[in-house]
Amino acid sequence: MPPLNHAVLSASSAYRWLECPPSALATADIPDETTIYAQEGSAAHEMAEYKIRWHLGEKDLAPPNIGNFNAEEIDRYTDSYAYYATDKIETIRKICPDTIVMVEQRLDFSNYVKDGFGTGDLVIVADDVLQVIDFKYGKGVTVSAEHNPQMMLYALGALNLYGYLYDIKTVKTAIVQPRLDNISEWEISVDELLEWAENTLKPIAELAAKGEGEFKAGNHCRFCKLRAVCRKRAELMLETAEYEFKEPAELNDDEILHILTIADDLSKWAEDVYSYAQAKAINEGKSWSGFKIVEGRSKRQYADENKIAEVCRNNGYTMSQIYKSTLIGITDMEKLMGRKIFKELLGDYIIKPKGRLTLVPETDKREEVHTLDEFRKEF
Ligand code: SF4
Repeated sequence: MPPLNHAVLSASSAYRWLECPPSALATADIPDETTIYAQEGSAAHEMAEYKIRWHLGEKDLAPPNIGNFNAEEIDRYTDSYAYYATDKIETIRKICPDTIVMVEQRLDFSNYVKDGFGTGDLVIVADDVLQVIDFKYGKGVTVSAEHNPQMMLYALGALNLYGYLYDIKTVKTAIVQPRLDNISEWEISVDELLEWAENTLKPIAELAAKGEGEFKAGNHCRFCKLRAVCRKRAELMLETAEYEFKEPAELNDDEILHILTIADDLSKWAEDVYSYAQAKAINEGKSWSGFKIVEGRSKRQYADENKIAEVCRNNGYTMSQIYKSTLIGITDMEKLMGRKIFKELLGDYIIKPKGRLTLVPETDKREEVHTLDEFRKEF
């Protein structure tokens, strides 16, 4: 059994190990996957932290270096988060001048979860209310604050710090995901939170810390480091796909609905297994019977644009024949002018065509299109 460290029962993976306790130790030795998206998220977090600290009076701080990531995007989205967060801070300060505000605060909840701690983006403590706000830069999955265990663990950590100083009765949590236009807020009484911590969290965390409990597959598998090779997940997916299709030759509506409901999970799982097998074959030379490694299609490209232009000109082709000039894209134009001037000068000339109609699960955040006939006419 590997030694237990802070990452094993982390707050950010609590949604998984609370559902599937043995997954915590089963994945403990698998290295973290560092993706470009995670690095971009860290850069955006640093910028968000800088803006909040600046608002709180730490004016000497130097802005963080965000490397080669899209500075305009990071600036815009961290502004949205900072507006939300600072509005919360100032609103509560009007009522309670002694408000405590903590940025990137280490929150220890090890009295419930072995070696458990995390870092809260923003914690506000005032009189009888504790607020925990989390900034998420991802744009893949909308995250809800409701019963979100990461936020509940942070709140427990914050209560450990300040519960004895204030008579906190209510915990408010919020997740701000500006790239998905998502602000999710939720509240729970301290009594209910502590009841959950004692009777649900603690017993499961004890199992998880020992690598015990039942493996259980579900939506929480999507970010598990075992997701490609986990037998439990494979069993669930194959069970889900098993469906007794009856005569006649064409599927009926119920059968199509069944496939729609499971298609997303199945395709994600198949993609995970495929990526795993492909990485093994490319990186470790593993051979899979019936499969081979090939080169993907690639496009021709100019090796040296200056040389190409020179050869063309020397052979009688004019500049207008070999070069074309086009307007820079909307994002670059907005960056060039700044949002305000862009809006003033060009706002009337920017159109936003309707998006292509798509069938999505009803849990999707986008508003349903009701006037299908009108939409089809314009489309
Ligand atoms: S893939 Fe799912 S079932 Fe398997 S260990 Fe991970 S969370 Fe548990």
